[in-house]
Amino acid sequence: MRYNVVPFDEMEVMMSKVNTVLVLMAHPDDAEILCGGTLIRLAQLGWQVHIATAANGDCGSAELGRDEIAAVRHLEAQEAVTKIGGTYHCLGISDVQVAYTPTNICKAIDLLRRVNPTLVITHPRQDYMLDHEQTHLLARAASFAFAIPNASTLPLPESAVVPHLYYADPLEGRDPYSGEVVEPTSLIDISDVMQAKSQMLACHVSQREWLRKHHGMDEYIDAMQRHGAMRGQLCHCDYAEAFVQHRGHAYPQNDLLSRLLESSNLTTKEAIHD
Ligand SMILES: [Zn+2]
Repeated sequence: MRYNVVPFDEMEVMMSKVNTVLVLMAHPDDAEILCGGTLIRLAQLGWQVHIATAANGDCGSAELGRDEIAAVRHLEAQEAVTKIGGTYHCLGISDVQVAYTPTNICKAIDLLRRVNPTLVITHPRQDYMLDHEQTHLLARAASFAFAIPNASTLPLPESAVVPHLYYADPLEGRDPYSGEVVEPTSLIDISDVMQAKSQMLACHVSQREWLRKHHGMDEYIDAMQRHGAMRGQLCHCDYAEAFVQHRGHAYPQNDLLSRLLESSNLTTKEAIHD
């Protein structure tokens, strides 16, 4: 079956659309770790930022019960995205139970109907944890389907089109099967915003303290910065975030993220129509 999705390049309506990035990842803190610097830079350019998680983080504590830690993590995620004027959403699935089911696909499509993103970032197809892989499927399905009229009962925004889709790094940047470092299509220099990114991540106090007790050092922030430095070597800057752009049928082919963030003189309109 071939859906009649409107090609991105023909959508002149995009010219007047508010530019919106939606990150749909598995757990509270994944977005801040994997693409927080890029989100900060997009917010600086006037983009609206939405961070969504499939799971509610209810296995993220060795001491608190499920409901207690989920409530704590919801507040932490809200605090982090508020630092860049964004909005947090949660699909409300329990940790380690994220699955590509009809119910969850509908939740993801409805989320995209409400947010109407220009750009979506999610996990790669293969990652260390199945919650991440299943969230990838949900985000990919929803990004393709949300503009199809019958895909949701929520109102269809007039400007809805298949968004640019990018995959952030897997854990440690490595494919979990081969162990090989994933080769990115797009590298975003986040050197100037690393401090702000660290402050966003530090909002996740429960996770930071858990790791600090376990490791006896601030491994939470340190590991994120080490990974950023490793990716920065590829583009000769102090810190970078790496992405692979999805270029399958119906998706925009131009590298919006790189074009937009490689030059502060470029407008969003010019980058979209590159
Ligand atoms: Zn995660």
